[in-house]
Amino acid sequence: MTTSTKPASTRISAARGSELRCRGWRQESLLRLLENNLENAERQEDLVVYASFAKAARDWDSYHKIVHALKNLQESQTLIIQSGKPIGIFNTHKMAPLVLMANGNIVGRWATPENFYELQDKGLTIWGGLTAADWQYIGSQGVIQGTYEILAQVAREHFKGSLKGKFVLTAGMGGMGGAQPLAGKLAGAVILVVEVDRARIEKRVAAGYCELIADDLDHALALVEEAQKKGIARSISVVGNAAEIYPELLKRGVIPDVVTDQTSAHDTLYGYVPVGLTIAETEAMRKSNPTEVRKRALESIAVEVQAMLEFKKKGSVVFDNGNNIRSQAAECGVTNAFDIDIFTARYLRPLFCKGIGPFRWIALTGEPNDIQYIDQLVLEHFPENELAANWIKLAGEHIKFEALPARICWMGHGERTKLALLVNDAVRDKKLSGPIAFTRDHLDGAAMTHPRIGTEGMLDGSDAISDWPLLNALLNTASAADLVAIHSGGGGYAGYMTSAGATITADGTDEAAQRLSTALTADTGLGVLRFADANYSEAQEAAKEHKLGL
Ligand code: NAD
Repeated sequence: MTTSTKPASTRISAARGSELRCRGWRQESLLRLLENNLENAERQEDLVVYASFAKAARDWDSYHKIVHALKNLQESQTLIIQSGKPIGIFNTHKMAPLVLMANGNIVGRWATPENFYELQDKGLTIWGGLTAADWQYIGSQGVIQGTYEILAQVAREHFKGSLKGKFVLTAGMGGMGGAQPLAGKLAGAVILVVEVDRARIEKRVAAGYCELIADDLDHALALVEEAQKKGIARSISVVGNAAEIYPELLKRGVIPDVVTDQTSAHDTLYGYVPVGLTIAETEAMRKSNPTEVRKRALESIAVEVQAMLEFKKKGSVVFDNGNNIRSQAAECGVTNAFDIDIFTARYLRPLFCKGIGPFRWIALTGEPNDIQYIDQLVLEHFPENELAANWIKLAGEHIKFEALPARICWMGHGERTKLALLVNDAVRDKKLSGPIAFTRDHLDGAAMTHPRIGTEGMLDGSDAISDWPLLNALLNTASAADLVAIHSGGGGYAGYMTSAGATITADGTDEAAQRLSTALTADTGLGVLRFADANYSEAQEAAKEHKLGL
């Protein structure tokens, strides 16, 4: 992987306050979001934000050029970025996006992991993850509500609405997986997370995302049992390899109520650590014998998935949490890996059908009170939205801010626009300390085609049709978002995914109000229509209610 052509001399963090380095707040907002991605990054020195190798820019040279371009970018200009490298600036018009980007896209037949790694090593592409290359990552909080809502739905469907006293087993505490212990505790469960890297665990404990580190598996199970007996929610972590611990639990006859995994199984070279190798040995072997690392990682994943299937047989609720672990195991001969449900189709799709998805906002001056003010706006103006109200209360109480203060809150079609316009008014009326950026995860209504995650098992069989995210990005551009990105998979994800991302800044101006109104309404509207078109009755009703579609 090419990383540095020009290392940054100091650690990068997002600028705070109201002093502008760019020609306007729209440009300053995007620059702060880029810096914010790096402030939150798992490996800033390599520009890697999360998921093992999802990068914020191609290399350091590109990073510095992007910063320079954003500082000088004028209204009515658009900066073009190809896989993390700035290519040129074009004169466009006042309502055009400031930044358009395409990251990690390779045409169908060539979209193999081998080709991707080769192109990456030649410095021609990067994998942008979903929110890494387009500067939309907000730390572990970005996925925490999604994980919480999945567990809440699991509770409703399988445990009469409550996870009290229930044992959730999972693995991985990286950039995204690090949200699991807190999400599990907020959902009322006793959650045990297996993580091979002690430093990752310590990072999450320091950030307030996990309560306890067990000394070993025996200690972890004692802590689980104690919390279950007392009926208290508790988050516990243990250092270990999931491909060893999961089978060991089976051997001991310990059957958790819920089992999943969020290790970086999507990638067998840079991500999943094979059994029998330490992190340092894996690192060294990546250089000396990458084929052997991939083979061993795949074999370990197969062992872990076989254990997950066995847990399912013995009564656990088991689901894939979006890391492609089933596809990897299937590649290694676990032919029934897809007996495990994917979380999206099973638990979240009904929400997507109504345009409800992972909306988020970032306080660009760094002022935490701005987020608290917006929390109150949500509680006051959306009292009928129980999901949002419940989450805002939990988040306000339990979630510590990382880097720029931000909030995720799953909101639906129309609601996102209404909130953003209220916020734009508050910026204009100086009730907030400065502008607010609005964005969302790519795992949203029309924004993602991933036949193994977002669009598995579509009613009409349209799982692999990637027209939707492409149309989403085109529509975001036509409806005047400030930044629009198209991403595709690389590495373990090669050929699996295409997605779209958009960011719009509420700077208190009338133009911002227009942008927020058109872009956010179009974004969720297309999401509802994507599912209505696939014959989901909830989406067809939502389309009728909101007068969407023909
Ligand atoms: P990451 O690379 O930052 O972290 C992965 C963690 O897994 C690391 O801490 C690593 O040490 C650990 N790990 C690797 N192999 C292990 C093993 N055998 N046993 C125990 N721990 C092991 O990745 P991330 O950003 O946390 O993402 C994790 C996965 O979740 C990725 O596949 C990502 O694509 C997926 N993801 C899902 C969602 C969702 O909405 N459900 C959202 C984002 C990411």
